[in-house]
Amino acid sequence: MIDKDTIERIKAAADIVDVVGTDVALRKRGAGYVGLCPFHDDHSPSLYVSPSHQSWRCFACDEGGDAVSFVMKRHCLTYPEALQLLAERYCIHIPEANLTCEQWIVQKAREQMLLVNEATMHYYASRLRTEEGAQGLAYFRSRGYSDDTLEAFSVGYAPENSNVIGAVKERGLHMHYLMPSDYDVTFRSGQTIHVDHGIGTVVQTDGRFRDVFAGRVIFPWMDERGRVVGFAGRKLDGATKGVEMKYRNSSDSLVFHKNQHLWGLQQARDAIIKAGNACIVEGYTDVMSMH
Ligand SMILES: [Zn+2]
Repeated sequence: MIDKDTIERIKAAADIVDVVGTDVALRKRGAGYVGLCPFHDDHSPSLYVSPSHQSWRCFACDEGGDAVSFVMKRHCLTYPEALQLLAERYCIHIPEANLTCEQWIVQKAREQMLLVNEATMHYYASRLRTEEGAQGLAYFRSRGYSDDTLEAFSVGYAPENSNVIGAVKERGLHMHYLMPSDYDVTFRSGQTIHVDHGIGTVVQTDGRFRDVFAGRVIFPWMDERGRVVGFAGRKLDGATKGVEMKYRNSSDSLVFHKNQHLWGLQQARDAIIKAGNACIVEGYTDVMSMH
């Protein structure tokens, strides 16, 4: 639970014009601002933002409220989740006095794992435009996807000699979060550590670290807040011989529960809210084609 004082500090820091302006292009009009309402198919600016009242209102769909309610509705979040997002955005520290030591460790591990996933996503995406990722790019091109679509879904390629560990270390993050949970890692120095909380992107076999997605095109999984929680990797055509799975997903972890996420929801959210309905399809590439 977030205490009253902290809630007040978050609300004071989250200026309504800034919060709404992050998602909607606002124009000054009179004492306030106007913009296209993101909650209905708006063509004439119906959204009004009042800095003096720290409030917003859409005169077409009759929605309105304060900065927290805007973030809740915009990102489909609960009240505490919206406060958390605003606290992160405006650098307000939420005291963790009520956490047990174990809860604190889990929370810190979750934060690190999300950062590791994000670094991993950028690494895979950057490989797509290099020689070692050429076959990955060729696969997406053969499906007819534009650069805009590839970027919208942040897809990538994990090269055969993937250096995902290097990419994670470069960002000052611990590589052991890349290992599976409940896993012993032995380093060249001979030191062995036990990993309690890991993502499972890298495994160690015969003393060597191996990216489980090597040789696959990558579809990152994002949660409803746009955080990278896991990955799916597809073996390229002609490389699916033998017993290797065509698709491989991140294993479930502190941050990833495959049966609780819907792939592409982050990219489709605005359109779903405006249309009031959603179309569910079977595969990653189906979602990209529909997009
Ligand atoms: Zn509206």
